[in-house]
Amino acid sequence: MVFMPVYINRAAKAAAACLLALILLLFMVAPAKADIMGQVTGNVVNVRSGAGTAHSVIGSANKGDNFVVVNREGDWYVVRYHGGVRGWINSQYLKTSTNANLPSSVKAGSGSVNIRAAAATDAALLGSFSGSASLPVSGESGYWYAVSYNGKTGYVAKWLVIADYTPKAVLESSAWAPALVNAETLNLRDAPEGEILAKLDNGARLYVRDSRDGWYQVESPGGNGWVHGAYITFDQAKASMQSPAENLAPRFSGTQAQGRIEVEWRQENFGYQLDLRGSTLIRYELSEQGRAISIITDMEFVGDLPGGGGIQMGIEGEFANILTISGSEILHYNLTEEDHGSRLTLAVGLNPLVGRLIYIDPGHASVNENGKIDPGAMREDMQEKDIVYEIALHMLDILGNMGAGVMFSRGETTDLTLERRAWAANAAGADILVSVHVNAAANTNASGSSTWFHAPQDDDGYDRAACKLLAECIQKALLDSGSLNDYGVREANFAVLRASEMPAVLVEVAFISNEGDFTKLSNPPFRRQLAESICRGITEYFKLTN
Ligand SMILES: [Zn+2]
Repeated sequence: MVFMPVYINRAAKAAAACLLALILLLFMVAPAKADIMGQVTGNVVNVRSGAGTAHSVIGSANKGDNFVVVNREGDWYVVRYHGGVRGWINSQYLKTSTNANLPSSVKAGSGSVNIRAAAATDAALLGSFSGSASLPVSGESGYWYAVSYNGKTGYVAKWLVIADYTPKAVLESSAWAPALVNAETLNLRDAPEGEILAKLDNGARLYVRDSRDGWYQVESPGGNGWVHGAYITFDQAKASMQSPAENLAPRFSGTQAQGRIEVEWRQENFGYQLDLRGSTLIRYELSEQGRAISIITDMEFVGDLPGGGGIQMGIEGEFANILTISGSEILHYNLTEEDHGSRLTLAVGLNPLVGRLIYIDPGHASVNENGKIDPGAMREDMQEKDIVYEIALHMLDILGNMGAGVMFSRGETTDLTLERRAWAANAAGADILVSVHVNAAANTNASGSSTWFHAPQDDDGYDRAACKLLAECIQKALLDSGSLNDYGVREANFAVLRASEMPAVLVEVAFISNEGDFTKLSNPPFRRQLAESICRGITEYFKLTN
């Protein structure tokens, strides 16, 4: 199939070039890090040698098994089955997710960060790192990143490191680079210079997995084996055929478009809304892979598309019949049919948190020179330092899943002063600082949430508008749950706010001294709910300031 991109105008061309670059990046860069993972949802599921039940069963997979998804073919996912062999699993038994949120490497946030043998603060110490040293990230486990350290896997606390999301720009040897046979016939051998297993036709598609002395280990229509490198061609452009649209496109291929679809778009506060109006009933397939969505049709798309930032939109295909939207900022999308199917509306929600660094300061827990830990407010066996730390860990979970970088001012305890907590955020270049506290007052009637900022009107060292907006967004989100009183957006010269160079707020989630608030704070799901509210407020802030 010829896969000639057709561009509508220069803007679309730029967007499509970005798209191609992104697709190349997605498939050529570090696939060992798995852009898309699939988890088996059926109890025992057949793994087949091709996309269909007519293909032989090469094995089985159990509920909860995880595989790297390398492609999608119709209703089937292609996964890396045991030993790297490709296996096909029906899509209804596989739940896919992207772990694109995993950073490529981490640096120490402030001071020296311990590297442990397991994801726990009491696990054996493997070593430590600090300064500009960075460690490659190989995975994650709860609140810990798995890192490569001296040839071993170690674990570092997420809340003590700065994550770098720059993709690793290396083609790893495990990449499945597409190539084509470039010879009348090509021998597929069981080893370099080995026995002939099969003969491959000119133009046959290969996936190269490894190389040795001018020979390539490939997957081919004739099976797995080795071919001589002189007779194959790597075509970078062909890599774009790995786009999610590829396997659906043949159904809609032809020499002529069967009608037109006018594309119009507008920006909404959630992202983009695309209006697709067909000259007739729109026949289409929707394909999604990770954070890429394609609409494939036998009609011609006509119109302009937006682009830029973390989202790319492009029109491609033999007669401009594939519309693809991709990008790290896509949070969700929704496609609806209207006018009996002659009109489609595609809403693309963007995630304003991608690429942001959010510095969370769980209040208190400083250790003084006598070794005594500041517990913050207390009541019965409840200590402020523990509650706010738990809320902060929930925030780490929520914000991390939305693609934000998160940094903590402390672990369970710290020897940093209040100013130093802010300085660490300044040094890290955090976008915002959120300090989390629990309030207490002699007047036990005082109750509810308050959010504080410090930005005197006559001091241009602070972005007053941004600080106030952040406080208002968080305060509103806390009140939206309906279970807390409004103690107000307020101003105070708190040290952690004063020393912050970025918009900073201090949240007093509720009063430990109030009977009703205390009962709520004692309830763990409520502490999760508080974290969700604060994160909703943070998201709203970034939406409004984007
Ligand atoms: Zn406090």
